[in-house]
Amino acid sequence: NASSVSLADAAYVKISEGDFGYVLDDVPHLVDHLPDAPTYPNPLQDHPAYSTVKQYFVNEDDTVPQKVVVQKNSRRGVHFRRAGPHQKVYFESDEVKACIVTCGGLCPGLNTVIRELVCGLAHMYNVSKIYGIQNGYKGFYSSNYLTLTPKSVDDIHKRGGTVLGTSRGGHDTKKIVDNIQDRGINQVYIIGGDGTQKGAYEIFKEIRKRGLKVSVAGIPKTIDNDIAIIDKSFGFDTAVEEAQRAIDSAHVEACSAENGIGLVKLMGRYSGFIAMYATLASRDVDCCLIPESPFYMDGEGGLLQYVERRLKENKHMVIVVAEGAGQDLIAKSLSTSEQQDASGNKLLLDIGLWLTHKIKDHFKSKKIEMTIKYIDPTYMIRAIPSNASDNVYCTLLAHSAIHGAMAGYSFTVGNVNGRHAYIPFYRVTSTRNKVKITDRMWARLLSSTNQPSFLSQKDIDEAKENDRTANKPPLPTGLSHHVAN
Ligand code: ATP
Ligand code: MG
Repeated sequence: NASSVSLADAAYVKISEGDFGYVLDDVPHLVDHLPDAPTYPNPLQDHPAYSTVKQYFVNEDDTVPQKVVVQKNSRRGVHFRRAGPHQKVYFESDEVKACIVTCGGLCPGLNTVIRELVCGLAHMYNVSKIYGIQNGYKGFYSSNYLTLTPKSVDDIHKRGGTVLGTSRGGHDTKKIVDNIQDRGINQVYIIGGDGTQKGAYEIFKEIRKRGLKVSVAGIPKTIDNDIAIIDKSFGFDTAVEEAQRAIDSAHVEACSAENGIGLVKLMGRYSGFIAMYATLASRDVDCCLIPESPFYMDGEGGLLQYVERRLKENKHMVIVVAEGAGQDLIAKSLSTSEQQDASGNKLLLDIGLWLTHKIKDHFKSKKIEMTIKYIDPTYMIRAIPSNASDNVYCTLLAHSAIHGAMAGYSFTVGNVNGRHAYIPFYRVTSTRNKVKITDRMWARLLSSTNQPSFLSQKDIDEAKENDRTANKPPLPTGLSHHVAN
C-alpha cells in the first residue's frame, strides 16, 4: 500500500512479479525530499550549453536498479532514484547558501569534487554563496567559513589532499545544525567515508526534526572502495594505478636478486579491492592476500610452502598484501601485552612487517639464501592528485549532487550499475562493500596468480552463507518507518 509510505521511509521499492516481467510498485519517494513540491523552473533550461541535449532533465520516476542480471523467478530487487537535473527546482539561485566539508582520511579526488561543486553551483545554477568548512565536522562550529568562488578553486584539482582540511572526531550534531541554522545555510555537501556518511545521516535527521528547509548531499569517499551499493568510489582508479607502480618496483627488486621477494602492502582494512585490482592489472604478482580470504602460513598448502615452490620455479616472486589481511594470524603469534600500547590501546598490527620476518625466519631455518624487499606505499597513494578517469568521475558525482540538492533531495550520491543514483544514507552506511571470494572476480585473480586458495570446505561454506545474509537490504534507523509491499 503505497499511500502508507512516508517521505524518507520509502527508501527502496519492492518489485512484484507480473505475468510478463515485473511491475514496479508505486512508491512516491526513494530518498527524502523536502516538504512541498519544487516550484522554480530549472535555470539550466536557458543555459546555451544544454540547449542541444535531447532530453536533459531526468524523469521524476526514473529509477536505477541495483541488480542488472536477474535470474529466472527471482525479484528484480532494489531500485534507487536516478540522479540528474530536474525540470523544477526547490531553491531559487539567489536564495541558495551552500557549504562544503571534507572529513576522514585523504583520498585522491577530494579537491576535484570541491572544485566541481563550486564551479557547478556557480556555472549551472548561478549560485554565488558557497562556503568551505575547514578541517572536517568540527569546523562547522570552531572555525571561520571560507568563501569559495570558481576563481579560488580554479586549479586545486591538480593538487593532492583537500584544500579545506580534514579531521576525525568532533562530530557534534546539535552544534553543527545550530550553525547551519544560524547562518541560513540550505545546502550542505558532505564529502567523506563511512563514518562521515553516518554523521551526514545524523545531521539530516536533526535538520528534519527542526523542520529546516535544508538539503543534505553526501559524496562518499573511500579509497578502499568499501562503500556499499555503489560501483566504485572516486580515487579508487588512481589508487590502483599508483599501487601498480609500487608493484612494478617490487618486481624489479625481486628480479634483480637471486631468490628475491618483493612484498607490497596496500590499503584495505576490511576490503581487498585495491590489492585485487592492482594484482589483476599488474600480472607480475604471484600471491595476493586480502582480509576477506583467510590464509595460513605453515604446513601443507600454506603460504611458506608456496613461496618456497615459487622461488624454486622462478627464482623470484611478488606478494601483495592488503593491510587488513591475516590480522588473526598476527594476533595469535603475539602475547596480549604485545598487542596493546602503554595505555592499553589496541596496536595496529603491520601485516607487511610480520610477513617479512616470518618469511625471512623460515628461509633462514632452512639455510636457503634469499632477499626480501618490503614496500609500503600507503601515504604516497593517498596524497596524489586524481588521475584522468577519476577527475571525470568526481566531476559527474559533484554535478549529480548539485542537481539533487537543488531539487530538494537529501541523499548519498553514487554510481549504481553505471548510472548515477541518489541513495538513502543508511543504505550506504549499514553494510560494507567487500570482495566476494565466492564471485568470479576472485576466481579470476586466483587463476592469474596461480596461488593456492588457502580455503577449506568449511571456509567456502561460511563465505557462501555470508553472501546470502548480506543480500538482505537493511531498513532505516531512527525514523518512523513503513515498508511498501
Ligand atoms: P575514512 O575512514 O575513509 O578515512 P571516515 O569518514 O570513515 O573516512 P572517520 O574518521 O571515521 O572517517 O569519520 C569522519 C567524521 O565522521 C568524524 O568527524 C567523526 O566524528 C564522524 N563520525 C564517524 N562516525 C559517526 C557516527 N556514527 N555518527 C556521527 N558522526 C560520525
Ligand atoms: Mg571509515
